[in-house]
Amino acid sequence: MSLASDLLLAGELVALPTETVYGLAADATNPQAIKKIYQAKGRPSDNPLIVHIPHYSMVEQFALIPNHLDISHFASTFWPGPLTILLPKKNHSLDSACAGLQKVALRVPDSQFFCQVMLHSGLALAAPSANLSGSMSPTSANHVLSDMDGKIPLIVNGGECRVGLESTVIDVSSQTARILRPGGIGLDKLKEYFGDIVCAFEVSKNHAPESPGQKYRHYAPSLPLKICSSEHMVLSPDTVYLLTAEAQEQLQFPKDQVILMGTLNNLSSVASSLFASLRLADSMKFKQIVCESLPTEGIGLAIMNRLSRASKG
Ligand code: AMP
Ligand code: MG
Repeated sequence: MSLASDLLLAGELVALPTETVYGLAADATNPQAIKKIYQAKGRPSDNPLIVHIPHYSMVEQFALIPNHLDISHFASTFWPGPLTILLPKKNHSLDSACAGLQKVALRVPDSQFFCQVMLHSGLALAAPSANLSGSMSPTSANHVLSDMDGKIPLIVNGGECRVGLESTVIDVSSQTARILRPGGIGLDKLKEYFGDIVCAFEVSKNHAPESPGQKYRHYAPSLPLKICSSEHMVLSPDTVYLLTAEAQEQLQFPKDQVILMGTLNNLSSVASSLFASLRLADSMKFKQIVCESLPTEGIGLAIMNRLSRASKG
């Protein structure tokens, strides 16, 4: 903890576990440290970073809270947890982390260690996923090591991430909330809380995305990835298959061509193993990856969002 805090206070990068994926953390208010994040990841400079805080009371330090948002009630419902909110910036302290945009993305992560590092150092931490830009997010310390070895001074090993997919990003700066990225908190829970909510994560060719990260290649393995419903899958010798237990039960494909990724009864189990499964598939000696298409209920929406973007890589 003190090693991580000291490095962060000195403007260095530290990879830290969160409940979503591993984050590549830096002092959110230090432009030099933020620059190191973009360099280590090879991240396009116009793609802003989520700023993590240990407690909702710090929101007002960085953001203007609109009258329609009861931040304490909101936080008691969703934080700590995999939901990021966009609000208008209060001052210039986070200009670098926000890539010059007028809004800031804030979240309280559900990771005791991460929050204790913030409290110990007194820092808010900007932290995108700790992978090379465009690639699959890391859900274990070994994933971080394979992307960041030699580039950063410290990776904290906190085991496997519980959720395994990034946070949901919503813009709450105007009356009607807008979802910019589906993620760890499902649409059902957001609708329950906000009532009306706009899904703004399907980017059309004619409009600039509200969340710049949407326009980039993302989450992609180096092998070509196809998504296919289990009924339409055909066995091919050059392919590795990512299947739920139910699909494999039905298909009975050779075990050495199958990576099991949880069960249809529990899509959270698919979410938490998705990136590890894609990384494993990518390391095998096949020519392509075929992944089962999944229902878009609950966290299934975020799973299919990541898969469809990864398949466009
Ligand atoms: P990542 O850090 O890779 O998990 O991505 C964070 C996502 O949140 C990206 O899609 C960003 O474009 C989006 N985001 C972060 N900060 C802002 C902001 N200030 N305004 C709009 N989108 C943001
Ligand atoms: Mg990322």
